[in-house]
This record gives sequence, C-alpha cells and structure tokens, in this order.
Amino acid sequence: MASRPKTSQSFTESIDRMVDRALPHLDMDIPLGLADQIKACDKVFQVKFPVKMDDGQYRVFTGWRAVHSEHRLPAKGGIRYAPHVSQDEVVALAALMTYKCAIVDVPFGGAKGSLVVDPRAHSEDEMERITRRFARKLIQGGYISPGGNVPAPDMGTGPREMGWIADEYKNLRPGDINYFACVTGKPVTNGGIRGRVEATGRGVQFVLREFFRHPKDVALAGLSGSLEGKRVVIQGLGNVGYHAAKFLTEEDGALITAVIEYDGALTSDQGLPIEEIRQHMNATGSIKGFNGAEYHPDGLPLLESDCDILIPAALEAQITTKNAKRIKAPLIAEAANGPITFNADSILRERGKVILPDSFVNAGGVTVSYFEWVKNLSHIRFGRMARRQDEYRGQGIVDALEQMTGQQLDPGLRKVITTGANELDLVRSGLDDTMRLAYQEISEVFHSNKKIEDFRTAAFTIALRKIVRSYLELGI
Ligand code: GLU
Repeated sequence: MASRPKTSQSFTESIDRMVDRALPHLDMDIPLGLADQIKACDKVFQVKFPVKMDDGQYRVFTGWRAVHSEHRLPAKGGIRYAPHVSQDEVVALAALMTYKCAIVDVPFGGAKGSLVVDPRAHSEDEMERITRRFARKLIQGGYISPGGNVPAPDMGTGPREMGWIADEYKNLRPGDINYFACVTGKPVTNGGIRGRVEATGRGVQFVLREFFRHPKDVALAGLSGSLEGKRVVIQGLGNVGYHAAKFLTEEDGALITAVIEYDGALTSDQGLPIEEIRQHMNATGSIKGFNGAEYHPDGLPLLESDCDILIPAALEAQITTKNAKRIKAPLIAEAANGPITFNADSILRERGKVILPDSFVNAGGVTVSYFEWVKNLSHIRFGRMARRQDEYRGQGIVDALEQMTGQQLDPGLRKVITTGANELDLVRSGLDDTMRLAYQEISEVFHSNKKIEDFRTAAFTIALRKIVRSYLELGI
C-alpha cells in the first residue's frame, strides 16, 4: 500500500486553506475566533497496545481517534487501517468528516480513526485480536458509543471489523439496548443495512448523473451530453473505485479506459471489464497478469491520460504541484479523501478544470451510515411496516384502472405499481435524493456568487454556514 507522497503542505494545512478560501463568502457575522474554533481539531486520542501474534510473540500497535467537531453528536467517521497512517492524516480526515456531514445534511460531528497496521500482513485471527483490542481501548476512553462517537469502515477495514467492534461494545456495555448503533458499516446480518457496502461508489455515480443534468455545469468542463460513452480514468479499484466504476459502466454506459492501482495500471480504449479485473484482483491481490488489457508497470502517469472524467478513488495527495500542470481530464470527481492538494487545486482551477470535491462526492458512505444508525436506534428495518400496505394500494390502483378501461395493464407497468419498496430500494432512494439536493445547492451557490470560483469553495461555504449557525444558535 502506497503512502502519502511528500508535499510542501501537510494534509491539515491543505484543508484549512481550502476552508479559508470559503470563509469570506459566508455573508454572516462571525464572531472573532469562531473560524479558528471550527478549523481546530477538538481532541485526539492516541493509544498503544500489545497484541499476541499467531507465533506467540507480542507486537505493539499505535492508533488514533481524532474528534474534529462535536457541534452535532455523535461525531462520525471511519477507521482506517494502513501501514503509513499518521496523526496529521487522521486529524485532516476528521476535519473533512465535519464538512462532509454538513454538506449532505447528515446531523453528525466529524471524527476519524486510524491504526498503523498492514491488514494484508496478518491472519484473520490476528486481525480480530488487533481490532477487538483497539476497540476496547477506544470504548474505555469514551471514543466509541451510539450517542458520542460512531466509527465506520474506511481504507483497510470493512463489515468484518465493524462487526467485531459492535460485539466488543456489546460485551463491555451489557445494558445498552442501542449497542448496534455504536458503529456503522456492520454486516447486514448483524445490525448493518443493505446498500452500505456500495454506498460511497453509488454516491459517486449519483453525483455524476446529477452533474450531467446541469448543462451549464457540463459546458463549464467543455463536455456535452450524458455519461453515455464518456471515457473515465479511475485510480483505485478498492471498495469505492470498484463500485463507482461498475455502476458507471453497467448502468450509465461510461467507458473505463484506465484503472490505476498501487502496482501499475490497465488500459483499454474500448473500456475495461471491471468485474473481471476485480475478480482477478481478489484472486491474486494485484492487477498484474490480467489478460485482455494493456498493463503499465508505472501507474501514476496514467492520471495524466486523455479522458473526459478522472476519478481519483485511492489515496490523498495524488495530484500535487508536480503533476497538476499535466492533468488532461476536464472534469475531476474526487472519490478519495483529499486526492488534490491545495496548491495543485489552484493550478487546476487556473487551467479551467472542473473539480467536484471530496467533501461532497464521497459523502455517500456516511449518508448511508446515517440511515444505518437511524435503523439501529429504531430497531426496525426500513420498509417493514409499509411495504405490503404499498403493494395492496398499488394492486387496488391496477384493479381500478383495469376495471375502468376494460384493458389489461402492461406487465412491466403493473410490476412498478404493485411492488413495495424494500430496504435496499429505500436506501438507494434516500442516497440519490441526498446527493442530488447537495449538488443542486452547491451549483446554485457557485452560480449565484461571482466571487466563488469553484465547486469546492461553494461546498465549503455551504458547510461553514451550517456549522456557524449551529454554533451560534446553540452557544459555544
Ligand atoms: N470512511 C467513510 C468516509 O470517509 C465513511 C464514514 C462513515 O460512514 O462514518 O466518509
């Protein structure tokens, strides 16, 4: 797994400067010091703990949980497992969570956790012991609870780890009836929600669909038409990149012309078979050796390839002052957190590139996490009460129509009217609505204020307005 490349600015500074760009556009009276409070990370909890490895030896692990903001509770954000994580990174990612939640109207503060570990270097048993021990430390420190701080998956973690965390919480807090709500992204069979695994990638798809419904914005990027036939370069075929690429090709007719991974890239002008590549990766751990596409051992330069849409869906700081001048894509959708540094962002802006920012584009994960949390607190699956009722009503409408017209309804139409929404339908509909509304708000703020030069600043302006209002109305 690659690490964050060296840049002149830290990740936190990069985000703070993006916030600074938005602050003059708030049109609100902000008391002195409030902007500093909003930017500051409230607290960081560092833990070190030993775990017995399979060979009987011990290893000490280092992890963090950073809480950027508790203006809304719980504070929310994933837990990342990677060999190169650092305190600066987790603090920056926690800040992004605060802004992200505000943009998509998810009523949470911002947090993030990380652990220095390479999940690929450990057995499942070791990972379970490591995760349970880490969770115990965080729970005992007050950094995991349904009402205070709710982790979720991030890079290197998934439903498996979230399940262990939920179980650990349940054991440590036996009286808490809401124990499932202490973490999201759990297995569906253990308090999770359908559609959470695909959520971030699905959100990227919904954002791009909405972008192409705004001809003025499409023209800004010098593009036209719809997603159909658009050439897309994607960096990272992990959970986010894979789902985004899969849905964009299978459902919208886009062509993925390059997939960039940590160990090279695959290209094909005809469009890559995403599902097959993913299966190859699952089997071998690499894109190397995949037949049916051209392999390039050095993947990074492919970020600069000729395409319509570039989707960085891997690590932060992938587009820096070093390569920003050479990026050809007119439209960049940031599916990863922080893939473009502040300085690179300025270069791309000057070059007329349209950037859909991470604080919005990858908010699908936390949006569906919010649905999961609500489900856990209400102790009932979405759609359980209303689904059959909707079907009875639909059947009534079909019967009435057929009686009135004396004709049989088309079977496809009949199915649409008489099928009640299940949990997955409702999750996707809630996510689509959330991403569309957020896009519309960002586009509207961008177009209505000539001084706002880009979508990122518009998105931060929206987030900051909401956070400032919350601080002022509730008191600091
Ligand atoms: N790790 C994801 C993110 O960066 C999801 C966070 C969550 O669901 O709380 O947005």
